[in-house]
Amino acid sequence: MTSEAIQPDVPPSGTGCVECLDNGGWWFHLRRCAQCGHIGCCDTSPAQHATAHWRESGHPVIQSFEPGEDWYWNFSTEEAANGPALAPATSRPDDQPVPGPAGAVPTDWRSKLNR
Ligand SMILES: [Zn+2]
Ligand SMILES: [Zn+2]
Repeated sequence: MTSEAIQPDVPPSGTGCVECLDNGGWWFHLRRCAQCGHIGCCDTSPAQHATAHWRESGHPVIQSFEPGEDWYWNFSTEEAANGPALAPATSRPDDQPVPGPAGAVPTDWRSKLNR
């Protein structure tokens, strides 16, 4: 892993998946790009925008953006990674529903997850 893959001073892009918020989608869990702060949805989510961001940008390392979780993952090596604390906020708001965002989740969301 190159050191540029983790930029501790870069804040997150927002409180939800950039692409899902843009196109009316929804997510299960959120991941934060450790390099540019992009928030994307996890691979269990229908659109898997965190993985898509890695493929498009080449930014390999994410950190969980879920409350109470601080683990890192490196897509290119498919291994857990280690890193410093990132700039706040380090997770989505505690009161944000799972799945989210509020109002965009279909009632049959369970059948739409990737497992
Ligand atoms: Zn998404
Ligand atoms: Zn990125």
